[in-house]
Amino acid sequence: MNVTHHPAITRCPRCGSERLSWPSQKNFQCSECGFVLYLNIAAAVAVIMACQGKLLFGVRKRDPGRGMLDLPGGFVDAGESAEEAARREIREELGVDIPEMRYLFSFPNTYPYRGMVYDTLDLIFLVEWNEPPAVKAADDLDDVIWVERDSVEFEKIAFDSIRQAVRRYLAL
Ligand SMILES: [Zn+2]
Repeated sequence: MNVTHHPAITRCPRCGSERLSWPSQKNFQCSECGFVLYLNIAAAVAVIMACQGKLLFGVRKRDPGRGMLDLPGGFVDAGESAEEAARREIREELGVDIPEMRYLFSFPNTYPYRGMVYDTLDLIFLVEWNEPPAVKAADDLDDVIWVERDSVEFEKIAFDSIRQAVRRYLAL
């Protein structure tokens, strides 16, 4: 029996062979044709929007974590900087342009999606607003809510990395 480190990957995408070996958790090699694929982590961004003692959370429209709270953000596209990804995601999900932002810290995360589990590194940015921006939920978000800093319901946050990020931010 071959050891399959990634349950969703059972065949070589080039020749279809099931004879895959996994030298490490993050890459496999096909014993038939020699094809090698690295499953490197994906970069993702999440933005803490802070305004007048409140934090902005989105309500997720889709799984994973449908109906749960999340920070606005998403995966970084190829060729894009993390800052560009943050600006793009905020524009897509909230319909606003962010003025200044500051990188805070990063947390690893896993993102299960249709049978694949993606390992990600979530880069957390902070945007501080003097007045609440005219946000409108779109794209991956069903709704947007502002939550008082001391009333965050951590059990309603979809991802562990985001829960940790919000906790660490609130402790700054
Ligand atoms: Zn192959």
